[in-house]
Amino acid sequence: MSATGPGHTPRTSRPNASSGIAYEEPLLFERSVEGRVGYQLPRADVPEVDPAELLGADGVRDDLPGLPEVSEVEVVRHFTRLSTWNAAVDLGLYPLGSCTMKYNPKVNERMARLPGFAAAHPMQGDENSQGVLELLHRLGGALAEVSGLDHVSLQPAAGAQGELAGIMMIRAYHRARGEQRTRVLVPDSAHGTNPASAALNGFEVTTIPTGEDGVLHPEPVAEAMAEDVAGIMITNPNTCGIFERHIGRITEIVHAKGGLVYLDGANLNALLGIARPGDMGVDVMHFNLHKTFSTPHGGGGPGSGPVGVKAHLEPFLPSPVVVQRDDGSYGLDAERPQAIGRLHGNLGNVGMAVRAWTYIRSLGSEGLQRCGEMAVLNANYLLARLRDHFHVAYDQPVMHECVLSDRGLSESGVTTLDVAKRLIDYGYHPPTIYFPLVVPGALMIEPTESESLEGLDRFADTLIQIAGEAHETPDVVREAPHRTRHRRLDETRAARRPVLTWQPEQPES
Ligand SMILES: *Cc1c(COP(=O)(O)O)cnc(C)c1O
Repeated sequence: MSATGPGHTPRTSRPNASSGIAYEEPLLFERSVEGRVGYQLPRADVPEVDPAELLGADGVRDDLPGLPEVSEVEVVRHFTRLSTWNAAVDLGLYPLGSCTMKYNPKVNERMARLPGFAAAHPMQGDENSQGVLELLHRLGGALAEVSGLDHVSLQPAAGAQGELAGIMMIRAYHRARGEQRTRVLVPDSAHGTNPASAALNGFEVTTIPTGEDGVLHPEPVAEAMAEDVAGIMITNPNTCGIFERHIGRITEIVHAKGGLVYLDGANLNALLGIARPGDMGVDVMHFNLHKTFSTPHGGGGPGSGPVGVKAHLEPFLPSPVVVQRDDGSYGLDAERPQAIGRLHGNLGNVGMAVRAWTYIRSLGSEGLQRCGEMAVLNANYLLARLRDHFHVAYDQPVMHECVLSDRGLSESGVTTLDVAKRLIDYGYHPPTIYFPLVVPGALMIEPTESESLEGLDRFADTLIQIAGEAHETPDVVREAPHRTRHRRLDETRAARRPVLTWQPEQPES
C-alpha cells in the first residue's frame, strides 16, 4: 500500500504495477519461436494408437492451433507479470460498492483443495459423495438460518442466476394457483439484473421511484400494487447503502394483493447475524456466496448464488435437491413435479460452497455478526471522514456502503470517472462509479469489515487529497492515471469492438 497521507505523493512503485522491472519484455504471443516447447511428457508406456481410430477422423485436426511456442519459464513469467498488473484484494483495499470485495481467508482455499472435494466427480454416485452432499446440505441449512428462510438450493452459479431462479419460482407459484400475473415491481435504485431477471421471465417491469431520503416508501408501492402484480424485488440494504426501513409495511401491501416479495441479497453482509430477511416478510431471496461469504470473485470466480425460499415455495426449487434420508445418509431428490427445472449441469459451483462453509464454520455465529457490525461501522467511519470533502448523496447513517458524488467538484471540471482513475495512481482499486443510477455521478464505496482503522484512514486521506487536487491542479486528476501500464482506454471502442480472444496471425495469402 502506498503512503498516501496529506502531502504525500504516490510512490513510484505501485501495487498494481509491480516493481517496474522487465516492463518492456514482449508478451507471450510475441515471443513465440517455432519449435520451442514448454512441457515434458513421459514416454508412453502403452501401445500407440491412431487418434483417428479412437476419435474418428472428424475428431482429429490436421493443422496446429497456432498457439505461441514458448518455454516454461516464459509462460510463468508471462502470467506472473500479468497478475502484477492487476488490482487484488490481497494487495489493497478494493472498495467496489455493492460487490463486498472482502478478504478471502486462505483456509477456505485449503479446504476447497482437499482431494475429496476438489477431485469429486459429479457422476460418482450418491454413495461415493456422502461428504460433499453433507457439506451442501449443512450449508443450505446455515444459509436458511442466517436468512430466516426454510429451504435453500445451491444450484445457481451467480446472483443473477439466483434472481432468475427466484422469479421463475414466483411465476410457477402463481401458475400453480391458476393465476396469470404479468407485472413485477422494481425500485429505480435496483441493480440492473433485477429488471432483467423479471423481463427474462416475461414480466413487465413497473419502476417504483425511490424517495428523496433514498428509501422506498409504502405509498408508491401501494399505488402500483394490483392483482396483476406477481411480486416486488427489493434490495435491503438498498444500493444507496441505506436500510429499507419500510420493508415490513411494503411486504404487507404486496402480500395483501397476493404478490410475493423477492429480496436481492447481494447486500446481506450488512445484516449478518443482526436481522433476517425471512423475518421481514421476504418469500424468496438469493445469496451471493462470493460477496457475503468471502469466496473469491471478479477475475477470481466462478460465483455462487444460492436461492432461499419460505416453505410455500419449496415445491418449485430447482431440481434435484440435496436431502438427508431417514437412515442419516444424504442423497438427491429429483422427484419434484413442480420444480422449475435444473439450473446447473450438476449441483452448482461446489468449490464455492466449500469455501463459504469453511468461512461460516471458522467464524461461527458470533464472528458472522461481528462481520456485519464491522462492515457497517467501517462504512459509517469513511462517510464521516469524507462528508466535508465530497457531496453526499443521502446524508444519514448508512449500512455497509456509502454513496458520494462529484457534484461539489463540477466547477473544476473533474468528474467521478477522473477521481476513480486518480485513485489508481495511489494504488487503490476504484469504487463503483455511476451506480446507483438514481445518484448522478455516484461514487459508491464499500470498505467491508476487512480493513483496519489505519487502512481506512489512508484511503480517506487519499480521497481528500484528490478532492484538493481537483480544485488546485484539476488537469492532474483529469489526465489520471499517470502510473499504470495503460493510461485511459478507449472505452467506446472497447465496448463496440471488443477483442476478447487472441487469434493467431493469419498467414498472408
Ligand atoms: C452483485 C449484485 C447482483 C448480481 O450478482 P452476480 O453474482 O454478480 O450475478 C445483483 N444485485 C446486486 C445489488 C448486486 O450487487
